[in-house]
Amino acid sequence: MTTYDFVLANGKIMDGCGNPWYWGDLGIQDGRISEIAPAGSLQGRQKVDAAGRFITPGFIDIHTHSDLSILVNRRAESAVRQGVTTQLIGNCGMSPAPVSEIHLAEMKRQWGPISDQPEVRWEWQTFSQYLQILESQGLGINIASLAGHGALRIASMGLEEGKASPAALRQMKSLLEEALRAGAFGLSTGLVYPPGCYASTDEIIALCREVAKYHGLYASHIRGERETILEAVAEAIRIGSEAGIPVQISHNAPKFGAPCDASANLQLVEEARAKGKDVTVDNDLHTDLAPALTDGLPQEIQDLPADQIRTLLRNPTRRAEIRDEIVGDRKPAFGPVGLLKHGQWQRITMLHAPKSPQVVGKTISTIAQERGSDPFDVYFDLIAENGHDAEAIFDYIDEVNIRLLLKHPAVIICSDGQVLAPYGFLNDPPPYSPCSYGEFPGALERYVRDEPVLTLQEAIRKMTSFPAQRLGLRERGMLREGAWADIVVFDLERIHDRATNLYPHSYPFENYPHQYPEGIDYVLVNGVMVVEEGEHSGALPGKVLRHHFSKQQ
Ligand SMILES: [Zn+2]
Repeated sequence: MTTYDFVLANGKIMDGCGNPWYWGDLGIQDGRISEIAPAGSLQGRQKVDAAGRFITPGFIDIHTHSDLSILVNRRAESAVRQGVTTQLIGNCGMSPAPVSEIHLAEMKRQWGPISDQPEVRWEWQTFSQYLQILESQGLGINIASLAGHGALRIASMGLEEGKASPAALRQMKSLLEEALRAGAFGLSTGLVYPPGCYASTDEIIALCREVAKYHGLYASHIRGERETILEAVAEAIRIGSEAGIPVQISHNAPKFGAPCDASANLQLVEEARAKGKDVTVDNDLHTDLAPALTDGLPQEIQDLPADQIRTLLRNPTRRAEIRDEIVGDRKPAFGPVGLLKHGQWQRITMLHAPKSPQVVGKTISTIAQERGSDPFDVYFDLIAENGHDAEAIFDYIDEVNIRLLLKHPAVIICSDGQVLAPYGFLNDPPPYSPCSYGEFPGALERYVRDEPVLTLQEAIRKMTSFPAQRLGLRERGMLREGAWADIVVFDLERIHDRATNLYPHSYPFENYPHQYPEGIDYVLVNGVMVVEEGEHSGALPGKVLRHHFSKQQ
């Protein structure tokens, strides 16, 4: 009888494909699953008794923003402690590569303070150089990446507004081709953010035709997730269909201000699929987001240095124009701006305001009453007082929509978070990012165990084989012989998310600062234990994954 490197014994094996569990042992050798056999039958040099807990494939998070934070925290702590073994980065149009020397400053401005961290040395220009730096010193999880349209545009034309010239478009195409050859899984856009919001549909189609040559994916933060959500979904579908590539619509819950619930956008996806168009969706399970207040300003000014923004806001004429622009929303802004546009000030709760600490924990409505001011002016004043450091929790999604998406078979569960850790730069000040710490355990706790919105096998499918299929990761996302041993062992009875707050928020905020979840007992990445009895082992066995067709044209 073979003695394996490692055996996970006596578990409820759930293969990730949507099938119910069965009792079994997994034998792991050289990073892969060598044998799956009846419980109690395998021998290993090292053996862990799963003792009736679930053994599933490691979770694959198809929508994250860990591009720079993974350099700061290579152990990928907030992700792997949830059971995540692979993340896709480069979403919403933003990847840190490619980058050109002359536009490095604009690129760094887009990423904010993390871009000046000592671990982020900007030693790369091309996509392939960035991937090499990622893999040079080990990773706690596997990383796959998209090329961000925003990065391509900044590299070729900076943050210029308006149409790309033919020369700029040619340059974007050639940078994209380099990224695809290096292993990018496709192209992402962020059509509400600068500079994506300045791009025409034709510009994106032209770039997606390059992606088609490499059989990649088009992933989009669409052009508005509120009033314009249906047009924006239709635009994404059209881009994929004209370029002949699959479409992944990112975090597609309608946000406050949308004219419909999620069944309307899902219906467009179903109609497209019925016509043979390969369109799928992802979504995370949180109803709130805590951006900087400056992120709600019009795209042209939101990233300016704080003193320049302050000058604009102190000029009454400019302040009135900016207010009109926010309310007019002609170039649809990102989701939370719906609360500004529709005056939902009671749904915006201050989280950080270093220069006006007395407002923390209060809603903008309450602050407006206290100050005897108009709430819109309070919003501007808090920015003038605190610059980019003012952050608030925006409650901008109705949980009904989270459930509708969760139940739909074409929707993948993702986090839309990033690798974080409760110490050092990534916790200074503690960010409000429950999805980064609690997404996957929270889904299992709230929507499988406590309330049966999904069966366990369906939830696991949406976290494993489905995202793997979407990315063409043929040897991950399923428990079967020969696959890479990316594995989670968890106890459904004990699983507990210690990061998520439920609406309405009260101060001090529940589960903040965030903590790692409970009940995720073992996590293996490429056959190596990264989480052992609930603690990080320090191992860095993660790989940089390159798209299957990256070498081919
Ligand atoms: Zn996004």
